[in-house]
Amino acid sequence: MKIIVCIKQVPNTTEIKIDPVTNTLKRDGVPSIINPDDKAALEAALRLKAQCGAEVVALTMGPPQAEKALRETLAMGADAAYLLTDRAFAGSDTLATSTIIAAAVKKLGADAVFCGRQAIDGDTAQVGPQIAEHLGIPQITYAQDVEYCEKKGTLRIKRQFEDRYQTLEVSGLCLITVLSSYAKPRYMNVWDIVSQDEKEIGILTFADLEINPAEIGLGGSPTKVKSTATKQFDKTIETLELDAEQAANAIVEALKQKHLI
Ligand SMILES: Cc1cc2nc3c(=O)[nH]c(=O)nc-3n(C[C@H](O)[C@H](O)[C@H](O)COP(=O)(O)OP(=O)(O)OC[C@H]3O[C@@H](n4cnc5c(N)ncnc54)[C@H](O)[C@@H]3O)c2cc1C
Repeated sequence: MKIIVCIKQVPNTTEIKIDPVTNTLKRDGVPSIINPDDKAALEAALRLKAQCGAEVVALTMGPPQAEKALRETLAMGADAAYLLTDRAFAGSDTLATSTIIAAAVKKLGADAVFCGRQAIDGDTAQVGPQIAEHLGIPQITYAQDVEYCEKKGTLRIKRQFEDRYQTLEVSGLCLITVLSSYAKPRYMNVWDIVSQDEKEIGILTFADLEINPAEIGLGGSPTKVKSTATKQFDKTIETLELDAEQAANAIVEALKQKHLI
């Protein structure tokens, strides 16, 4: 089984600062990490590698420095890694991004595609489902658990909803989006950290893929950002000096007023 895991390099949002003039994210000097949901997707694929010998291929679209994220996936145990990079890809919205990634999946071939549920910077959760639509394959979102059923050669996926779980079994090529709550990703091991240096990162550019240039990049992106604004909080803080019983009553009263209890 060959699993392609789509990973995105994102700014570590706990350290993000907003430019007060332009209202855009200040990325300079902000450390980058692998998107947390994607690390969980990689962990799910690596567990299938241990369980049934799956081949795990990491794939990212981004600038040349995204290679660092791919090196981390190799050090965690991925067998191969590919970077999709080209000036023609710049400015792509989610639809154009998924068009490019779907073309790369077609080129590389796969039995399953794993994505994170959502990226912590773009936050749309659109790219995974859109890749599935481009490829015309089933999509199983919000995966909380993924396991291989050896007897049937199928994948069993536990999906998380707000109030319940749903278990599905799937055979054939499919796309799964994984939640970061699936599992704590493994640490890189010393052997893989050392040996990943010898592995080559595959580079895929526009020329390597069958894509209509009108469907990618800024020009091929139907989403246009008209403006961005930082949310202003206008709530005031009230400090009350109360004993425990009075404090409990005040909290109950406040919750009642907001119809929360
Ligand atoms: C109008 C517009 C212009 C934009 N211009 C730019 C730009 O110039 N430069 C720029 O960097 N971004 C740009 N973006 C942002 C870019 O579209 C998104 O970063 C990208 O499409 C991913 O969307 P998301 O972060 O919401 O991912 P989500 O849909 O939340 O991600 C879901 C999953 O899809 C996979 N995935 C997402 N992105 C990638 C990726 N790049 N590689 C591999 N897997 C991935 C991951 O598994 C991820 O967990 C633009 C967005 C818009 C709307």
